[in-house]
Amino acid sequence: MVEDRVWGSGDTFLSFLEKNKMPLDLYYKLDSEDEKLLMDIRMATVYQLLRDKDGSVDQILLPLSDELEIQIVKQNDGNYSLKVIPVIYEIKKRSFAITFEDIPSKDILKKSENFDLSIEVEQLFRKIVDFKKIQKGDHMVVFYEEKMRLGKPFGEQKIEAAMIEQHGKKHYQFLALDGRYYNEKGKSTGKSSFIVPCNYKRISSKFTNKRWHPILHRYRAHHGIDYATPTGTHIKAAYSGKVIFAGKKGGYGNAVVIKHSGGYRTIYAHLSKFKTHVGAKVKTGQLIALSGNTGRSTGPHLHFGLSQNGRWINPALKIVFTKGLSGSKRRAFMQYSKIYRQKIENMVKSHIKKMKNRPSLEEVDSLIK
Ligand SMILES: [Zn+2]
Repeated sequence: MVEDRVWGSGDTFLSFLEKNKMPLDLYYKLDSEDEKLLMDIRMATVYQLLRDKDGSVDQILLPLSDELEIQIVKQNDGNYSLKVIPVIYEIKKRSFAITFEDIPSKDILKKSENFDLSIEVEQLFRKIVDFKKIQKGDHMVVFYEEKMRLGKPFGEQKIEAAMIEQHGKKHYQFLALDGRYYNEKGKSTGKSSFIVPCNYKRISSKFTNKRWHPILHRYRAHHGIDYATPTGTHIKAAYSGKVIFAGKKGGYGNAVVIKHSGGYRTIYAHLSKFKTHVGAKVKTGQLIALSGNTGRSTGPHLHFGLSQNGRWINPALKIVFTKGLSGSKRRAFMQYSKIYRQKIENMVKSHIKKMKNRPSLEEVDSLIK
């Protein structure tokens, strides 16, 4: 029988192996890249465990990220094999309209049954709509792609278009081809952005969620950007926030982690010297460390990672701030968003009609009697 298990906040891969009475050399035999991936397992990740008749573990599927998971399988000789494989998921196109009745995130969760989506919608509109001022009767429409792994919502949801109508004013957000969101005029509504945390010679490794390495014959992920830079280069906070970690962090070597508003965190790794401490409040551009070559690193560089709600995202999408689209990109976007606006309009109309035809509690009550 397959058991669904939850990855706890204090769990490490070693404690996980110990708990399940599995050989610890599964951990010690990992190479440095796979070991780094293991550090990315999110708290509350649901993984699957299949047992033999004698109660020993036969197979485990443990998601490392949205795209990769670890598969551990018992072999005929009783030993275990460990492989990093792509997560297999289905993508479903979904949409819904709601009229707010409760706290917005609760209403969205009730309608979508998807916790991640409820957070993502709020974050998408966080600088546009004051959620505290949303009133009963305000509307919302969301078009999105939902990833399903083993029949359950999994990972990041892709919101394609969304609208919130507050006090009769409609606020739109549409996903463009460049991976960013714009309003109906093709303007970016984000007010601030992350800065590049250091001067650098070149980018030695870009962000990737899943890449097949043709020589190593393995799947790889790189959840950040590597900036090649000589040891001792000034590392600056990419955005204002609070330092929540400054110390040794496994393969990352010396690292600083800063918590920002909006569920964002940044990590600066392989450092040589700290110029800040845990608990310090830092401003955008403030010196926090000197770059180095500590941890699993093949040359002096800064590894810069950005996560939102514990999920790694591509910093490149958040670093360069664009005010809006122009030229042919804008024309294509305007066509695309126009189609979605029509769809949203239709959804709102049919939703309001449905709400009007909805029997009142008293009517339902009298029907039951
Ligand atoms: Zn890196």
